[in-house]
Amino acid sequence: MDEQVAVRPHPGPAADPVSENPPVAREKLEEIFEDIRNHPLYDMELHGCLNCGICTATCPSAHYYDYSPREIVQLLWTENLEGIYDAMQEKIWACAQCYTCAARCPFENSPGGLVMIMREVAIKHGMQSAKDVLRPFSRVLLKVISTGNQLAPNMITRDAFPDWGPNVSKVSAPLDVLRKAIPVPTMHTTDTAWIVNLRTSVELYTIWEETGVLQQIEMVDENLFDVIRDVMDEKREQYEEWLLEQEEDEHEA
Ligand code: SF4
Ligand code: SF4
Repeated sequence: MDEQVAVRPHPGPAADPVSENPPVAREKLEEIFEDIRNHPLYDMELHGCLNCGICTATCPSAHYYDYSPREIVQLLWTENLEGIYDAMQEKIWACAQCYTCAARCPFENSPGGLVMIMREVAIKHGMQSAKDVLRPFSRVLLKVISTGNQLAPNMITRDAFPDWGPNVSKVSAPLDVLRKAIPVPTMHTTDTAWIVNLRTSVELYTIWEETGVLQQIEMVDENLFDVIRDVMDEKREQYEEWLLEQEEDEHEA
């Protein structure tokens, strides 16, 4: 009698039978999981999982969304590549990054930290979910990168904050005069929350370049990346000119 040999079929592309999305190649799923597992923080955030659900019971996002930190941790712990990919399409963006789960897990896992790793990898791979979630933050990102801070006093207008109720009358106060009353000279402006030193901006650009932040921006929004590049080039030129002027002043002195 011939020996029966069980041949496991090649897994092929992963596909949800009811999904309209095209299937994802196994190699791609493995590549994504490798990037998650090789993240420097991964081993610190995941030590095992009892599937006890304490994290989900204390998770604020789990109360309002179709989201469960227990499910995310289980997908990673069991190396469920298709499930991980599916969670990266939507669920991981529901986490509020409050880290209540990390404080409660008996295994000292950090589901919130694992979600952060998955988000980074989603950005690295240019996943559509990352682009969709981050696009509304383009304006904020541009403001931070071009001015060094996020909010400016002149952004606070009656139209922008109609829900302030009676307090909105304070918005009509002469902000430029009030700001000048602050003893810190770098806050004597209404265009930005404070004036960021040119050298500090240029140093921050180098940090963002070296740490891959700019690469991530390019991956999720190429137009925004181009605008930011122009801002950075201009500031760098200004800084070079300022350095030259300093040198000339020293020679003349
Ligand atoms: S991550 Fe921790 S709290 Fe959540 S199910 Fe696993 S062991 Fe329980
Ligand atoms: S960090 Fe995320 S997963 Fe953890 S409790 Fe907060 S919202 Fe839930």
